Amino acid sequence: MLEDKNQNSTSLSDLGEFGLIRHLTDAIKLKHKSSVKGVGDDAAVLHFDKQLLVTTDLLVEGVHFDLSYVPLKHLGYKAVMVNLSDVYAMNGNATQITVSIAVSNRFPLEAVEELYAGIHLACKMYGVDLVGGDTTSSTKGLLISITAIGEANKKDVVYRSGAKPNDLIVVTGDLGAAYLGLQVLEREKQVFQANPNAQPELDNYTYLVERQLKPEARKDIIQLLKDLEVKPTSMIDISDGLSSDIIHICQQSEVGCNLYEDKFPLDPQVIATCEEFNIDATMVALSGGEDYELLFTISLDDFDKIKGNPNLTVIGHIVDKNEGMHLVTRANQKVELTAQGWNALLKKD
Ligand code: ADP
Ligand code: MG
Repeated sequence: MLEDKNQNSTSLSDLGEFGLIRHLTDAIKLKHKSSVKGVGDDAAVLHFDKQLLVTTDLLVEGVHFDLSYVPLKHLGYKAVMVNLSDVYAMNGNATQITVSIAVSNRFPLEAVEELYAGIHLACKMYGVDLVGGDTTSSTKGLLISITAIGEANKKDVVYRSGAKPNDLIVVTGDLGAAYLGLQVLEREKQVFQANPNAQPELDNYTYLVERQLKPEARKDIIQLLKDLEVKPTSMIDISDGLSSDIIHICQQSEVGCNLYEDKFPLDPQVIATCEEFNIDATMVALSGGEDYELLFTISLDDFDKIKGNPNLTVIGHIVDKNEGMHLVTRANQKVELTAQGWNALLKKD
């Protein structure tokens, strides 16, 4: 977990917009050759020889995050991660970001510093340059928009549209923990609202809460695939949930798929917490979302190269489009996949 350290409160209006920008960006040292000019002019100047990848995400307080249990430093970190994850999902390397924020006068300087501490940490950990942004006020709440820029050789870019029948479907890491982490945090919020003296009980859920508050984009997998000499035929990052993300791949590739319930990678804490909350772990893995793992397909010929790697789990295969998109259950039943996951799994009997 990240530490929040600032408790003081300095009004943003004391600094002014330019003072604030300088304060937040003064210490930046650009690392990439492609970053010719960063913060400080009318536009950043970048130079690339490869194909450019550009992706952006807008996060709105009350819609995408709840500051009653999301520390600002984590929010900054996560806002960068969700963008880098999209660059890695194209099989590229992320090189720069821009950060735009709108803040209401409810936030003191120290709050914005915490947000930027998370942003700068993410840039440092993932080797990305912060090269610009925009700062403005809002009447209410906090908005953050981050744009990530990356690069890839033309031959290396992986689209959602390249999956072929018989390809294997592979997922990285494990599934469902971030969603459960959110449920745990929501539950603690209710408890706290009922009794402000209650101590949060998060000991049994450390992995889940960490996955919700501090996700890591899978830059390591892009390197691993290079080392293994495997180029996926299609790829996406899991932001909405396995079910809706495999559907994106199938629709864009004009294929179908079979996923196997018994192959889903689940952390023991996910299994234990699903039992406690009486929800089905398969449903959580399918529909949970926010895992920021990579979901990709590979040619059957590449299976030997990935076999046994603890980061990678084969969870199914691609079939002809007319066979449809299905989950094959432990009981060997075929259930059609929907974007909401398998609704029948919502209730465990
Ligand atoms: P302009 O008026 O041309 O939009 P700004 O005064 O908004 O310029 O920004 C000045 C410089 O500071 C620019 O390089 C811009 O990219 C950068 N910048 C502004 N806001 C942020 C921010 N929140 N984070 C990082 N860089 C920022
Ligand atoms: Mg501006």
